[in-house]
Amino acid sequence: MEMEPVIGLEIHAQLNTRTKLFCSCPTEFGAEPNTNVCEVCTGQPGALPRMNALAVELAAKAGLALGARVNGRSLFSRKNYFYPDLPNGFQTSQLDPPVCEGGGLGIAADDGSAKRVRLNRIHMEDDAGKCVHDERRGITLVDLNRAGTPLIEIVTEPDISSSREAVEFLRKLHGLLVRLGVTRGRMEEGEFRCDVNVSLRPRGSSRLGVRGEIKNLNSFRFVGQAIDYEIRRQSGVYAAGGQVLQETLHFDSAKGETRSLRSKEEAHDYRYFPQPDLPPVQVSPELLERLRAELPESPEEAAARLLGLGLKDGQARLLLERRGALEYFDRAHAAGASPQRLAALMEELFLPFCQREGAGPLDSPFAPGLMASLAGLAGDGTLGRRKIQELSERLFREGLDPARVVREQGLAQISDEGELYELARQVVEAHPGESAKYRQGQEKILSFLVGKMMKLSAGRAEPRRAGELLKEAIARGGEG
Ligand SMILES: [Zn+2]
Repeated sequence: MEMEPVIGLEIHAQLNTRTKLFCSCPTEFGAEPNTNVCEVCTGQPGALPRMNALAVELAAKAGLALGARVNGRSLFSRKNYFYPDLPNGFQTSQLDPPVCEGGGLGIAADDGSAKRVRLNRIHMEDDAGKCVHDERRGITLVDLNRAGTPLIEIVTEPDISSSREAVEFLRKLHGLLVRLGVTRGRMEEGEFRCDVNVSLRPRGSSRLGVRGEIKNLNSFRFVGQAIDYEIRRQSGVYAAGGQVLQETLHFDSAKGETRSLRSKEEAHDYRYFPQPDLPPVQVSPELLERLRAELPESPEEAAARLLGLGLKDGQARLLLERRGALEYFDRAHAAGASPQRLAALMEELFLPFCQREGAGPLDSPFAPGLMASLAGLAGDGTLGRRKIQELSERLFREGLDPARVVREQGLAQISDEGELYELARQVVEAHPGESAKYRQGQEKILSFLVGKMMKLSAGRAEPRRAGELLKEAIARGGEG
């Protein structure tokens, strides 16, 4: 029987606030253990939580941007379980009603068609602390700096059919939330992480199979690997006539495989009940209106706008996925650059450079205005493709003005036809053997001569034009 994968995601995004969800302790990362704590976030008896208003705004903003319904009134509940890094003995989360319900995000399906991954809900909750296992000393230390950090959990419907679709959805969602300022999205600091539910069912069936839930993946690559591994594992179980068990799994990224953390029998019974210490969360119509007005264009709108500017599909997607790339593009475009030329420079040179450097485009010393100037020099033929490639690393790293570099170093492509023909003539004269071979029909030899001409011109000839002029010079027997 042919089986198809059914995948749903639960994404945790840390909200971009300075302080925690229910107290005024800072959310900064990397502080000395247990220094950003108070009586509220360490769960002292009698301490009362106070709602962070910005967190509510950010959660509502995420919902609006994702086409969800934002509830005017939602509630916090206590989700009870015991864990050493959970000082209250419960997590403060939202069961019913959550802050947002419904919504969705469009992606390209594996068959190339457009597909919308529906959202079930978005709810707010606080994060737990962290256990640090010191194996050498055989002890476990608890750091509560992270306890009480505000999160939203975004729960999708099981609308995803492959690892590729899951990763595209996550990249898009991440890009959108970062652009909105809802989260800073630094995955290496755990600000954007994901649980993945994977099950298999007979192709065409509408029934859901038994699922494995892989916890806490914090890179797009691991999400893809974990899903592919889990699909293979479950297929193997069914093929051998077995039954897949409902399990919570951990993905071991070093081994590239999942392993069981606990089975359904050991699943928690959280005994949710309303959190009596917090009033209902209110989102007023006025607040919604203001947030709606502040909303940037949606990914669909942005993609349509970029395609309208003549960008290729992949370029538009790249600009939407890379943090800061669309803003950078828009600023350079506003400074007068041709959108297509700009997109090509960013795709081929600038974004790969930023990625190698591990920095965002907007943090680069090579400001959008300089990129516009570089696109201009490419457009009017002053700088050839090869020359730009050669210069790019230095320009980007040092934030140099390309027009000035061209002027000071005399790098401009030679546009004077007479000057170019003279170079071609010299090359033909210096290589009579090769020129004769070309005349006898060995056309491939031309690229050798073009290479010589590029060298003679110090890279300032345009290769295609050089080829044409060389042919002309050969036809005229190397005469001036
Ligand atoms: Zn605190």
